[in-house]
Amino acid sequence: MANIAILIKRLLGSVLYRAGDLNYSNNELLVVNYHSTPKKFIPDFTAQVAFFEKHFDILHPNDLTNYFSGELPVGKKPRLLFTFDDGLLNNLHAAQVLEERGHRGFFFIVPSFVNAPPSEQKDFYLQFIRPVIDNSIDELEEDFTAMSWSQLQELLSKQHSVGCHTMTHTMTAEDQDEKSAEEIVYSKQYLASVLNTTIDAFCSINNTLFSVNTKQKAMIASHYRFHFTTLPGLNCEEANPHFILRRNIECYWPKGQVLFAMGKMDLKRWATRRDAYRRMR
Ligand SMILES: [Zn+2]
Repeated sequence: MANIAILIKRLLGSVLYRAGDLNYSNNELLVVNYHSTPKKFIPDFTAQVAFFEKHFDILHPNDLTNYFSGELPVGKKPRLLFTFDDGLLNNLHAAQVLEERGHRGFFFIVPSFVNAPPSEQKDFYLQFIRPVIDNSIDELEEDFTAMSWSQLQELLSKQHSVGCHTMTHTMTAEDQDEKSAEEIVYSKQYLASVLNTTIDAFCSINNTLFSVNTKQKAMIASHYRFHFTTLPGLNCEEANPHFILRRNIECYWPKGQVLFAMGKMDLKRWATRRDAYRRMR
């Protein structure tokens, strides 16, 4: 049962949408951030993608560099990029929907989750990635299982992008240097060597303000071209590939809730948190 705040968002989202809350300038880039994409919600996900297509030009992950360097010509609509955190096996359903419609996405991977023995992956997921599960949403084995290295290789061969979502999904702003290096630097080298590709995108876990400190922020910036955070905001104003702002959306959300998360109204309450991250140096 949804709580009051969620119900208000669902109602408000549609009202704000009609009032123009999703009217962004054409040089804006909205980065949407999904997690689990269970099979039974793929029709909902498909409807969300169709809605995004109407309002946005979908950005190919390879065009991100040009977007931030200003070399991507401003299009007729604002842009939108799909990202998926945690590397769950059920993300392959979402990837297929994107492929069928000519789009590609970013998938952020936790190597220790991929390497956990199959019989221990669910425990790993519940312990380190998502401790609280709604069993009416995530119920199949693939909702608790990681994509394998060969499945990730296949995603890459289909022109999707893979990024690093730390080594173990336990990184915190309290970590000592050695642990930070494992989560940020070794994880990148490991992913690059196992997948035989370049890894230039890092995605911080949980809440960027609690999982990244000043030193870690600098370490990420020196080893990656892009840092995807958990904070929402306007990427064309921020114009910073090391502080990419994202909107969390889940495929099982009703449309009003998606609209609220995509709108400008919701960005205001994040202003002090964006400031706090900018000031970390
Ligand atoms: Zn995560």
